[in-house]
Amino acid sequence: MKQPLVYTLLGRAGCGKGTQAKLLMEHFGLFYIGSGELLRERTQTADFTGQKTDRTMKTGALVPTSLIFMLWINRLEEIKKQKDDDFEGIIFDGSPRKLIEMHLLEEALSWYEWDKNFKAILVDISQEEALNRLTKRRQCAKCGHSIPYMDEYKNLTSCDKCGGELFVRQDDKPEAINQRLGLFEQEVRPVVEFYEKKGLLVKVNGEQAIEKVQKEILEKIE
Ligand SMILES: [Zn+2]
Repeated sequence: MKQPLVYTLLGRAGCGKGTQAKLLMEHFGLFYIGSGELLRERTQTADFTGQKTDRTMKTGALVPTSLIFMLWINRLEEIKKQKDDDFEGIIFDGSPRKLIEMHLLEEALSWYEWDKNFKAILVDISQEEALNRLTKRRQCAKCGHSIPYMDEYKNLTSCDKCGGELFVRQDDKPEAINQRLGLFEQEVRPVVEFYEKKGLLVKVNGEQAIEKVQKEILEKIE
């Protein structure tokens, strides 16, 4: 039986792990499991948990592990219905976010017999870079195109799609950004260190162009 690839992307907010997860998904034909996406989906149900999840996400705080885990398991069970021959693997985006989630994920992958080809990929950017990217990204006033604060985009003086005027997006409140970056140090850092000790960590430089980050990931996991 073919052993599926299972990867998880870790890194500070703004590191581009979502983009890299999507690229890896396309490259290997993987199923995508994003905790953020699962949670946003959950907010569509207007019950207690749906409403509280919505409020909690807006503050940048973490929702309880038990809730995330229930959403994961439902998703994994759906994926398990796939025929083995058609199944290439799974990519997790932004999980696990703390040690307890890491242990639960490890157990679940072992239960579903998907634990042989697991790697955690850290898209590494400094705290300062993360802060810049989250507070300085811009948007086109004319077409709405979003301009990240990175690489050559930093120097754009007008929209690279339509030439429209650019303004700084104010959608992330400073408190929420600080909360997210603080949580990385407190909660995700120990997860990164644990994977490193077990030889399961792949660390790449996130402070380079998107294609270069992807290239480095592919070189290091293959
Ligand atoms: Zn534009």
